[in-house]
Amino acid sequence: MDSSSAQKIVNKPLLPTSYSLLPTFQFSQSSLQDFETCPRRFKLRYLDRLRWPAVESEPVREAERLAQLGTDFHRLVQQHVAGLAEEILNQNLAESDPSLRIWWQSYLQYRPTLAAGTRLYPETVLSVPLRGYRLMARFDLLAVQPDGRFLIIDWKTSLHKPERDNLARRMQTRVYPYVLALAGTAFNNGQPLDPAAIEMIYWYPASPDQPEHFPYSAQLRQRDEEFLSNLTEQIKHAVQTATFPLVEDKKTCTYCIYRSYCDRGQTGGPLAELADETVTELDLSSLDWDQIAEIQF
Ligand code: SF4
Repeated sequence: MDSSSAQKIVNKPLLPTSYSLLPTFQFSQSSLQDFETCPRRFKLRYLDRLRWPAVESEPVREAERLAQLGTDFHRLVQQHVAGLAEEILNQNLAESDPSLRIWWQSYLQYRPTLAAGTRLYPETVLSVPLRGYRLMARFDLLAVQPDGRFLIIDWKTSLHKPERDNLARRMQTRVYPYVLALAGTAFNNGQPLDPAAIEMIYWYPASPDQPEHFPYSAQLRQRDEEFLSNLTEQIKHAVQTATFPLVEDKKTCTYCIYRSYCDRGQTGGPLAELADETVTELDLSSLDWDQIAEIQF
C-alpha cells in the first residue's frame, strides 16, 4: 500500500449510515448556516462530530495567529465591557501582538456609541423552542438602552468586512434578533419585546468606522419564523433519510476543513483571499462559550 492510499484510509473512517438528532440537540446560527451552505458539512460536523481534519487556510502559522488574535480581542473587549479600567488593560497589552494593540485602539476610538445608563450584558446566551428542538444564540454583547432599544453587538475579527448584502443573508443576522425577540422578556421587565426595538450591529476592527446596522421588525420576525421552521424541517428530513449531498459549487470547499473527507483537495485556500462570507471564520472565541451558563426560556 503506498502512502497516499494510507492517507485516504486515515482520512475516511467508517461512519454510520443512519442518523438521528438527539432530543437535546440545539440548533445555532452556525449549524443552520452549515446545513444551508453544504448539507454534507452539517453531517460531518454535527452528526459524525469530526473535527479539524484539514487546515482551513494557508499559510497555517498565520491562520493560527489570526485565530488567536480573534480570541484575544474578544476577551479584551469582554473585560472592558465588564468594567476593567483601560489603563490596566493597556498595561496587559504591552507585550501582546501589535495587531491586537491596533485593534484595541480602533475599538476605543470607534466602538458603537451607547447612551449613558445603558445596561450591558456581555456573553449572553439565549435559546427558544424550534420544531421540537431548541435554537440558541450567543451574543457578544447585548446592550439595553434607556430609550428601550435593544442592541445586539457582534465583534467580528475576520480580515475583511463582507459586503452588506452578504451580511444580510447570513444566518446570524436572522437568528440573533429572532431569538432575542422571543426570549428577551427577562431584559424588558418581563414584558414581550417589540421586534422593532431590536437592532443587530456588526463591528469590525478591520473596518472600525463602518459598522453594519440591521434594524429588526415584526415583519422580519414573521419572515424568520417561517424560514427557520422550514429549514429545521429540511434538516430533520435529511437526518431521517440520511441525505447529505455535497455542495455543488466547489469554490465553497476551498476553505472548508472537511475537504479531505470529500475528495475536494488537501490544501487550504490562501489566507489573503479569504472570503469572509463563505467560510468558517477565523474566530475561536466560541471555544470559550462552553463555560457560559445558558439561559433558557
Ligand atoms: S469540503 Fe465541500 S462538500 Fe465537503 S463538507 Fe466541505 S463544503 Fe461540503
